[in-house]
Amino acid sequence: MDTSVVESQPTESETTNTSMRPRPTQSEAEAAVRTLIEWAGDNPDREGLRGTPGRVVRAYREFFSGYDEDPATLLGKTFEETSAYDEMIVLRDIRLESHCEHHIVPILGKAHVGYLPAGRVVGISKLARLVEVFAKRMQIQEALTSQIADTIQEVLKPHGVGVVIEAAHQCMTTRGVRKPGVTMVTSRMLGSFRNDSGTRREFLSIIGNPRGDSNGV
Ligand SMILES: [Zn+2]
Repeated sequence: MDTSVVESQPTESETTNTSMRPRPTQSEAEAAVRTLIEWAGDNPDREGLRGTPGRVVRAYREFFSGYDEDPATLLGKTFEETSAYDEMIVLRDIRLESHCEHHIVPILGKAHVGYLPAGRVVGISKLARLVEVFAKRMQIQEALTSQIADTIQEVLKPHGVGVVIEAAHQCMTTRGVRKPGVTMVTSRMLGSFRNDSGTRREFLSIIGNPRGDSNGV
């Protein structure tokens, strides 16, 4: 393979989709984990740690499986024309497991997704899968929230979309400022969810009015 081929650098907005970058081999990835174990101060050759690099690499494959799937394709596949149904559709308390891109430690919480269809609906499990595809990447909660809402808006073209995520960040609870019990709430409202306070109120009331504001303070 000719490695001297120069590709254009991704712009800021393209950096979430890095699936085109060549990936290191599994043994290169395992060697990197070995280095981190030594960096932490332990001996990667001792009994208990011998299989750890392999396990960590396999866990990474699972934690970050979202890079291998295209979210728009996932939603686009199954939409149906349903002009008869024009009420709000809400999927709430979707279990969310992601990893913060600053420390690669877990972000755990729940997502609520709602939209007001304009002819197209998707199976409810597809909304949960959409959340998962974006969550299984390295993320910040604000971007995750926007990506879910924007994809629904682009693919289904509904009257409006609302996404609210409530999550705890282990980089805050177990290191650094150590604030256990703090939950960050982020939201993204589009279309009628943004413009019509009645629609927004209905959505927020269905999902149980999470406290906090969109800046997560
Ligand atoms: Zn973090």
